[in-house]
Amino acid sequence: MTLSFAVSLRCQECGKEYPFESGLYACPECGGKLEVVYDYEAIKESFSVEKLKSRPWDHWRYIEFLPLDSVHVTLHEGGTWLIRSRRLAEELGLKNLYIKNETTNPTASFKDRPISVGVNRAIELGARVVVTASSGNAAAALTALGARAGLRVVTFVPHDAPAAKLAQLRMLGATVIPVEPVEGELGAPTVKLMRLSWKKYGWHPVPSFGPFNPYQIEGAKTLLMEVMEELGFSVPDQVYVPVGGAGLLSGHIRALDDFRAVGLIDALPRIIAVQPEGNRPFVEAFRRGSEPETWPNPRSIAGGLLDPYTWDWRDGFRALRETGGTAVAVPDDLIWEAQKMLARYEGIFVEPSGAASLAGLMLELREGDVDRSDLIVVEATGSGFKDLDIVVQRTGLPEPIPGTEEALEERLKSEGIL
Ligand SMILES: *Cc1c(COP(=O)(O)O)cnc(C)c1O
Repeated sequence: MTLSFAVSLRCQECGKEYPFESGLYACPECGGKLEVVYDYEAIKESFSVEKLKSRPWDHWRYIEFLPLDSVHVTLHEGGTWLIRSRRLAEELGLKNLYIKNETTNPTASFKDRPISVGVNRAIELGARVVVTASSGNAAAALTALGARAGLRVVTFVPHDAPAAKLAQLRMLGATVIPVEPVEGELGAPTVKLMRLSWKKYGWHPVPSFGPFNPYQIEGAKTLLMEVMEELGFSVPDQVYVPVGGAGLLSGHIRALDDFRAVGLIDALPRIIAVQPEGNRPFVEAFRRGSEPETWPNPRSIAGGLLDPYTWDWRDGFRALRETGGTAVAVPDDLIWEAQKMLARYEGIFVEPSGAASLAGLMLELREGDVDRSDLIVVEATGSGFKDLDIVVQRTGLPEPIPGTEEALEERLKSEGIL
């Protein structure tokens, strides 16, 4: 018996359907990606906007749309703020620019949303050990809740992950295993080892992409649900979404599916997916109109967007096709520019992956055809504290001065204040 409104798990590859209670992580027939199917009629009867009013501002307010019996552990994920931009909007010549500030999540990235759902489902399924493959943020989210739940957490991370991300994981108590690529093998070696330990040791896989865990990905949809609620149950004109494995992007179409199915919205935003130029398998695939190929040599300052294969491309395609959206690739210099602008015009300190969405908007403003009065949302997905190396590398640290008036005046002049 389940208390959730999830009724079954359907394979996106072969179409076979299994009872939700089976607790499967992937299709046992073909190995394909499963998706959670809900009883929308039952949700309609139970859920109302009226009920939302008395619930705390975290993402469990949408519990009816999540595949869980109840919430076992939480640090109050989600519940972030949609911030109206003033100075940045003016600088870019836009009338209605909003920033969804995901840096205020418990472990400082949006990954707390999907992973908190994944951890809670793993607890319901009796997990003792959970394992993930991550550039660092999903691993941090998993390890924090794992600590609260008393689970053993094993994380496979890229060998060159930023020190701040590794430190966060160590401190939270994960077994942290940085993995180097294997000569001549394509694809992420972290994912390979996660898959291997799931099959071999029976650990529960909780990455932030769908093919190995259909539950967590449902948590990604609460970001757009919150945006829609914050806009009074209406949709923006445009939403810019950064894409790594495309779990977040697929959450967007599933949020729209859910809110449409129960009659909360009747329009769709245009969704624009953004990848770095140095790793753009999804952008290329969308332009071609066929399944992505594994990117041979992912390179970018946006470490959270370096998945060489876009796991959730199918839902990602749907998110763009059904909303009349598109996919764009941005150079690292523009990502860095966007990172500085978010900090200097709005006071929001993001990591490069968290600035890619704004970089995508800046590119569209230069090259595309953007209506400047549109209501536009950019998603600032992760905190700048996650990757201090990049900031120190690019800006250096200020030199101290002697504590004298002369030295002060000299410095103020060189800073352009005097
Ligand atoms: C993971 C991540 C992304 C990309 O999300 P996907 O679901 O992998 O597409 C974007 N920004 C940050 C900060 C991330 O950690």
